[in-house]
Amino acid sequence: MLVDRLHRPIRDLRISVTDRCNFRCGYCMPKDKYGRDHQFLKRNELLTFEEIEKIARAFVELGVVKIRLTGGEPLVRNDVESLIQRLKGIDGLKDLSLTTNASLLSEKRAAVLREAGIQRINISLDALDAKTFGRLNGVGYPVEDVLSGIENARKADFEQIKINMVVQHGLNESSILPMLEYFTGKDVILRFIEYMDVGNCNDWQNNDVFTSKQIKSLIESRYPIEPLDANYRGEVAKRWKLVGSPLEFGIISSVTEPFCGECSRARLSAIGEVYTCLFASSGFDLRGILRDSSQDLSLHQAVQRLWRGRDDRYSELRTTLSSTRQKVEMSYIGG
Ligand code: SAM
Repeated sequence: MLVDRLHRPIRDLRISVTDRCNFRCGYCMPKDKYGRDHQFLKRNELLTFEEIEKIARAFVELGVVKIRLTGGEPLVRNDVESLIQRLKGIDGLKDLSLTTNASLLSEKRAAVLREAGIQRINISLDALDAKTFGRLNGVGYPVEDVLSGIENARKADFEQIKINMVVQHGLNESSILPMLEYFTGKDVILRFIEYMDVGNCNDWQNNDVFTSKQIKSLIESRYPIEPLDANYRGEVAKRWKLVGSPLEFGIISSVTEPFCGECSRARLSAIGEVYTCLFASSGFDLRGILRDSSQDLSLHQAVQRLWRGRDDRYSELRTTLSSTRQKVEMSYIGG
């Protein structure tokens, strides 16, 4: 089994298929930093679907069992469905999922994604009221359209739908209870996520985090809750349910209770760099290996070498590391 220097196996791969997104959420792609003149990756720089498949196969052969497609917004990449079909055919891959803002999730698109091979889908939704949602997504996108996207996902019969809400202090904690109420009986799982210091463009401050403790107390002030067992060792969310209700929710304490010790995730950027930590400053170029036949390292050797040397645990070291450290942006590396 391939393990890193802290004995963590390689299990998950996040693949970013594009650095573009149609939203401008302040915590990820604030519009003052991603304006009209922002230079996105060029088409010929992006990995082709054939290249992504080759890299994904190598990762699965080395131990990866879960792949999640993300971005940017993965549904803005043309014909992402044909990539999904390719990945679906990889022997040994147990779980293929997608993270999206659901703005482009029509009924037909949801059915096509399911049919192509997406098993589970995560949908980001940070507020339910139109005004707050429009402000948070940075482009005034209507919340009703995302709620329709969620309904379309439900009709498409994915194995699991999770709704992810990033909670930012003073901006959207008032949406926590309405989210629980709205999604009760809708057969989805809610995840409340602490706002993280990913990248540098969001000017993150410790005070902007609405902590998992605060999330839990807010919920308990209205509803009795009970814990649920973890689904598997190292699950990042602490799972809960409302007493007497089928609604499951989870809280992810990425900042206040980091889980680096269990991190088995690698990330592949849209141009083929592998990152071994969400908070890394640089990645390792696999596209060069694929496109330049004079390179003497194989994909397998490169990934093995990289993973064996991995000792990242940024979240555990956060307070001792400089706040001026340059980190890759989430929209680029894949959320
Ligand atoms: N566009 C897709 C979406 O909205 O789900 C996929 C990419 S997005 C980068 C993936 C996830 O990362 C979203 O759920 C988003 O809320 C989360 N995210 C981005 N920046 C974050 C931050 N600073 N802290 C916590 N979560 C963040």
